[in-house]
Amino acid sequence: MRSFTYAKPASAADAVRALAAAPEGRFLAGGTTLYDLMKLDVERPGALVDVTALPQMASVDASSPTEITFGALARMADAAEDPILRRDYPALTEGLEKAASQQLRNMATLGGNILQRTRCPYFRGGEPYACNKRAPGSGCAAIGGLDRGHAVLGGSDACIAVYPGDWAVALAAFDATVDVLGPNGARSIPMDALHREPGSTPAVETNLAHDELVLRIRVPKTPLGRASTYHKVRDRESYAFALASAAVAVRLEGGTVREARIALGGLATRPWRAREAEADLVGRPLNAETARAAGDAALRGARAGRHNGFKIELGVRTVADALLIAGTRA
Ligand code: SF4
Repeated sequence: MRSFTYAKPASAADAVRALAAAPEGRFLAGGTTLYDLMKLDVERPGALVDVTALPQMASVDASSPTEITFGALARMADAAEDPILRRDYPALTEGLEKAASQQLRNMATLGGNILQRTRCPYFRGGEPYACNKRAPGSGCAAIGGLDRGHAVLGGSDACIAVYPGDWAVALAAFDATVDVLGPNGARSIPMDALHREPGSTPAVETNLAHDELVLRIRVPKTPLGRASTYHKVRDRESYAFALASAAVAVRLEGGTVREARIALGGLATRPWRAREAEADLVGRPLNAETARAAGDAALRGARAGRHNGFKIELGVRTVADALLIAGTRA
């Protein structure tokens, strides 16, 4: 049992101050990732700053004409059950529904969900295994090891761990923005710039400072949302992480694609926006052939390891299937 201090501030500013004073500390919200990792002795925070009492951070607000705002402390279940979201952004609803069990959705917060850490078994397995993310400089047991679930896009010689989340992938497709508060004030980060590729520093997973707190997530309102889907392929149909997933949205005019969004999950080291594939699709009809070509473009540059080569073709088909599903909603 490792000891830690515990604080439950009443304001976001106090929470940020508390964590700024605790370099080994962590913010605590739903706890569904952090408690797991503490029990595995992978996370060893010297201080927990519980943010669950902070006011005005738990709502989903669709009243603005220009954006939907998700408080960082809203539970996944609250957002998944929102009827406006289900009607106007099925990809966001599906990204939540397919992300976890109902029990977990009842506990996990949206802010914590987008910051969840990799499920790489060598990372979670602890000290017997080399892992540059857990212990920088120790190596990577997955490279040359069991890499069936690992990334084919965005990896490096230091780490090939997949970003495990679903909802952040759908948020990336819709150009969401994350508002954060730190000791030097508030700032906004495009969702697409929140997560980092591992490069030579896989332990640094996001562009958030240690003491920056996610306040809310904003999604621009767009008619694209209604013709969208989050398509997730996994080893079993529920309560499993993606082997490949795609959040897509399309706008069609007379059967021709005028606008497209494609983001990949389960395949890359971060939520992966496939902008070249989107551009290739614009001006073309949406059918099995063009959807397949968009999948090929989305997976261009993918690199397989020992056991995960199947994910490249799976990713292509996942994108293609997702586009055809979204097309039926356009
Ligand atoms: Fe660690 Fe990344 Fe290698 Fe997994 S893939 S063992 S998380 S360095």
